[in-house]
Amino acid sequence: KPVTTDMKTLTEEIEKFAEGKKIEIDTLKIREEYRKDFLGNVSHELKTPLFTVQGYILTLLDGAMKDKKLREKYLERANKGVERLIYIVKDLDLITKFEAGELKVEREDFDVIELIQNTFDLLEMKAAKKQIALTFDMEYPNPIYVNADREKIQQVISNLLVNSIKYGHSNGTTEVSVENLIKNKVIVRVTDNGVGIPKQHIPRLFERFYRVDQSGSRTEGGSGLGLSIVKHIIEAHEEKIYVESEVGVGSEFSFTLEKSANKVE
Ligand code: ADP
Repeated sequence: KPVTTDMKTLTEEIEKFAEGKKIEIDTLKIREEYRKDFLGNVSHELKTPLFTVQGYILTLLDGAMKDKKLREKYLERANKGVERLIYIVKDLDLITKFEAGELKVEREDFDVIELIQNTFDLLEMKAAKKQIALTFDMEYPNPIYVNADREKIQQVISNLLVNSIKYGHSNGTTEVSVENLIKNKVIVRVTDNGVGIPKQHIPRLFERFYRVDQSGSRTEGGSGLGLSIVKHIIEAHEEKIYVESEVGVGSEFSFTLEKSANKVE
């Protein structure tokens, strides 16, 4: 068996070995921190709705059950809490998949204007409850074909619209536009005239569980995962997302998409 006598080579080998181990240990440490952080956030986010649901159940057991009106009221509220829990767990499931690299982008050519209109329709009731109008900010919303994962882009649009409703003022408006950017890209903008986001929070908005307290996000429900999901989807498409916002004026979230290369009728 040949022995390495060349000291330089040997040192290099040892350094390489040590370097490799160091990197491994470093990433392990970071991963461990990340995991702890994540679990801490998850249990915190789950605790609130769980205690709320328990509160209603205890009140029912404590006698409220006998009163038909109270019974209905508390059961309805408990159900809302459970719905919220399901919503958080579903989002968590998605995030975990994305972060495990299981997010597959299944591209197809589709009309993004139609997709936005469909999403408006799905959210119509939610928007109407807050008297918020969802509209196009385009003179002629004619078909614009893009190449992307239709279902995932619908999730992006839906998450941005839901936020614009949640953090919008009643009687407000959310406008969506799609514009040509450079030759093979379009940019989709979702603009609201809601509460806006203080500057210092903007760089952290897309982190999972990050929420801006001042915007009333605690009372609004949600998991703090919506924008993190949006970012994962846009990055998996190798596209970009931007945010501009001013407190008291409103926010604009915009992202790019690839135009369809084929002429689609
Ligand atoms: P969630 O809405 O569930 O809290 P998100 O990840 O979707 O989580 O958003 C993170 C935070 O960013 C929100 O809690 C809110 O403070 C802020 N935010 C997002 N969209 C808007 C918006 N359109 N206007 C004002 N604040 C927003």
